[in-house]
Amino acid sequence: MFDALAQPISYQNLVDHTIRLDIKRLDLVHPHISGNKFYKLKYNLLEAQKQGFDQVITFGGAFSNHIAATAYAAHYFGFDSIGIIRGEELAHQALNPTLTTASHFGMQLEFINRQDYRNKNQPDFLRKLQQRYPNTYLIPEGGTNALAIQGCKEILSASDLQNYDVICCAVGTGGTISGLIEASSSQQTLLGFSALKGDFLKQEFAHFTHKTNWKIKDDYCFGGYAKTTNQLIEFMQRFEEKYQIPLEPIYTAKMLFGIFDLIEKAYFPPHTRILAIHSGGLQGRQNLL
Ligand SMILES: *Cc1c(COP(=O)(O)O)cnc(C)c1O
Repeated sequence: MFDALAQPISYQNLVDHTIRLDIKRLDLVHPHISGNKFYKLKYNLLEAQKQGFDQVITFGGAFSNHIAATAYAAHYFGFDSIGIIRGEELAHQALNPTLTTASHFGMQLEFINRQDYRNKNQPDFLRKLQQRYPNTYLIPEGGTNALAIQGCKEILSASDLQNYDVICCAVGTGGTISGLIEASSSQQTLLGFSALKGDFLKQEFAHFTHKTNWKIKDDYCFGGYAKTTNQLIEFMQRFEEKYQIPLEPIYTAKMLFGIFDLIEKAYFPPHTRILAIHSGGLQGRQNLL
């Protein structure tokens, strides 16, 4: 059914007319559990249900798409939810739109300082958390774990494996691209556009896949996570106007800027068939407008 989500971008607008670029609109999968987060949460919540948990806990920043998606999904599946949010100071401020949404769907928000937040994957931190919240299913930051990757394998349909040479996606924690790599056929290349600076990601998600048909680019991170420039925002606005596809500046606009730039620089051989994954995240726009 999700085949219908692949939407062509008309090639006249691209410098190399032989290149085909389609966009897979995961932003249309669900109004609240947006884009890749739908796939990342699916098997985690099923597992939590199976193990008899009635509460889930997870982590994120104040604008996190993962926090918004988890709050809604937990509510929908009948779990209580707790969100550990980076930034102690936020406890004394009015909630931004993302956190308002999360709270509206019943997520209990707990604000911790940035120092503590950095320890969120440390055994000691997790042990204390588990003592305070026993019987709670833990979902890591960004939702990335083995079950998330299992879910992300379902993003690609059988025809996607046949019809495209290169599959592009935005990369945060690397969970989504790991699932895409795992699902891909060996003739395909996965090209990840990092929303963060640096190549530490390579090590971080290397243990989720042993396949090697992928590359990560961080040349289009525009200074780092959640950083933007006028050039990026202008690109995003032009793109939205021309193609009537909404983007957001943290992930999807950076990926598409990168793809267009690489096409202009003749990075892809003629006749390359590219599928770009629109990973959603449009809830984040409300914080910026
Ligand atoms: C979370 C998110 C990503 C990054 O996904 P990872 O699995 O963490 O790499 C990409 N795009 C959007 C819109 C997201 O919300």
